[in-house]
Amino acid sequence: MGVKLLRWLLSGTANIRGRTKGVWAEGFDGASETDRRDLWVEVERRDLMDPIVSVETLALSRMHDRLEQWYTATYRTIKADCCLIIVRTQSGRSGVGEASAYGNPTKIQTEVAALTGWLIGRDPSQSFRFHPTGRRISFDCAVAGIDTALWDLRGQAAGLPVARLINEAAVLNVQVYASGGCRYDWRTDPEQLIAEALEYQTRGFPAFKFRLGTAWDWDGVTCDQFIELASAVVHATDSRFGLMVDGNARLSEAQALTIGKALARLGRFGWFEEPIPKDDLAGYQRLSRALDVPISGGESWSTVEQAMPYLRSHALSIVQPDAGLCGITEAVQMGEIAAHFGIRTVPHNWHNGVMTMANAQVVASLDKTPWVELNMLQGPLQSGILDSGLPIASGTLDISNCHGLGIQIRDDVRKLYPWIEGHYGIVVERSPQE
Ligand SMILES: [Mg+2]
Repeated sequence: MGVKLLRWLLSGTANIRGRTKGVWAEGFDGASETDRRDLWVEVERRDLMDPIVSVETLALSRMHDRLEQWYTATYRTIKADCCLIIVRTQSGRSGVGEASAYGNPTKIQTEVAALTGWLIGRDPSQSFRFHPTGRRISFDCAVAGIDTALWDLRGQAAGLPVARLINEAAVLNVQVYASGGCRYDWRTDPEQLIAEALEYQTRGFPAFKFRLGTAWDWDGVTCDQFIELASAVVHATDSRFGLMVDGNARLSEAQALTIGKALARLGRFGWFEEPIPKDDLAGYQRLSRALDVPISGGESWSTVEQAMPYLRSHALSIVQPDAGLCGITEAVQMGEIAAHFGIRTVPHNWHNGVMTMANAQVVASLDKTPWVELNMLQGPLQSGILDSGLPIASGTLDISNCHGLGIQIRDDVRKLYPWIEGHYGIVVERSPQE
């Protein structure tokens, strides 16, 4: 390397480090060291093409009607939340990202406000230097929302779907599976699950993922009872209708083994999601070795580092990053690394329309037969924030005409869904049945 180039490179690094220190001084414990490789991008793109002029966080809510509330175990969800990050540029473009509302929209807003100074004046095509850390969810969600909004702007500028910016061979039709099965109550109406499965089948969804229902210790529910119900869903639905079970990390390893073997025997189950506590790596390794049904997980990881032990030891067959929690950049990286281990990606997607489009773009860039989750219980907020709803027909999401994410936020969205303070869920107490 020539002396001149070296001096130039070092002076650039000094500048960048200086700015990073400034950011640290504002109180970020999530900021990471700048990446030397990014310096090239920064310097080469010094002439700003369309600088960022504002960054805004929009927190939205809608209370569920009583019949729309959903629950897992003892937890009842009473409202739907949404957290949008809108990045505007000098030319009048708006890029939108949806941060997972699990990061708490009020806290995410504070994190985004602190990052805004760094973003103003930069071009969306420049590398976004902040990455999720796996240490503070509000920071990770803020980074995820900004990262997604920047990808939206990059796609708009190129006139291409984000998936095509990442991978020229991206498949632009994404299969959407119906995700729900959180409304059946073991005490009063376990059969509701069968009716729900049939409804999604009739609506043209190719598959349905369901949960374990209300707390098993309330009603002395056993593995055999759950297997019987799962079997009833299999027999009530068409043989081409796919099924999945999400354990929500509620089962013991012994229970997971019993249920996993039954799901394999029933033959229609695409995967068994998070059967046991998320951090039980050895348990996941044993289950993956013992069971024929694929084990999936990873919906709460925001970094590749968190995923690595599970990927390299084949503790999972499917990994489920969520662009709302880790951003498009990190989700794609997680999926690309997973692919090296022969592990597929099917994103976790449990909130609203912007996140759905972002996760669809992620998986379209990774997989030849891409699948994405759709939360069937989020209510009107989900697609009501979008000018023309979600482009889903017969269980397929078409992203071929997207420029960027391919969405437009409704002008009156604040009025329609004003932010409602308070947690989206409550813990219900119920005495065990006599
Ligand atoms: Mg899940």
